[in-house]
Amino acid sequence: MDYVFTPPATVSVPVTGLAARFPVHRIYCVGRNYAEHAKEMGFSGREPPFFFMKPASAVLAIEAGQIGSMAYPSLTGNLHHEIELVVAIGKGGKNIQVADALQHVYGYAVGLDMTRRDLQNEMKKQGRPWSIAKGFEQSAPIGPITPVAQAGDVEQAEIYLQVNGQDRQRSSVTQLIWNLAETIAHLSAAWELQPGDLIYSGTPEGVGAVVPGDTLVGHVDGLADLTLRIA
Ligand code: MN
Repeated sequence: MDYVFTPPATVSVPVTGLAARFPVHRIYCVGRNYAEHAKEMGFSGREPPFFFMKPASAVLAIEAGQIGSMAYPSLTGNLHHEIELVVAIGKGGKNIQVADALQHVYGYAVGLDMTRRDLQNEMKKQGRPWSIAKGFEQSAPIGPITPVAQAGDVEQAEIYLQVNGQDRQRSSVTQLIWNLAETIAHLSAAWELQPGDLIYSGTPEGVGAVVPGDTLVGHVDGLADLTLRIA
């Protein structure tokens, strides 16, 4: 096949215990999926799930044992961290039933849904799309993917984010409003899921700003930690 220019390389994420990598197709994100976070954002905590997307090129894959580096993005003075459990889809499908949903999962990873909060607030106020706040370069840092068989029971896992050694976010995946299977079922009613899709499942309370020089450590029990420095 001839192209008019060289196509970009496939975006991929390391897989714990394997040399082969997980090729990324799309990135879905769930909004306000922990009640206490929904409240801190000014909502009741009870609403149907909703979704937004980031481009696959927003992935900032952090290799096992490495410290990632994220450039402080343009146009913002309020870059927020959102620690999230990421679901990596290995088998596609549409109209997936809740009872079957977890069979579509390849593995799990720790991710950050980095957000230009000041731009998001402005877009919300104007009723405009969030893309500029959510879908910028390096806005989706992610650690290595742990295959399901090695991941333990992530739905019972503790999830936390520390900045410079201090707790910022700490909760449990049990606190998800829409659990992982329900999220997959909802998503697949709207889109045909494909192998390589990543789902950022939502963030617990405690979101806040980071500045250049900060070091972030994200953790979900049973998965590889994510360490990121803001450059
Ligand atoms: Mn988020």
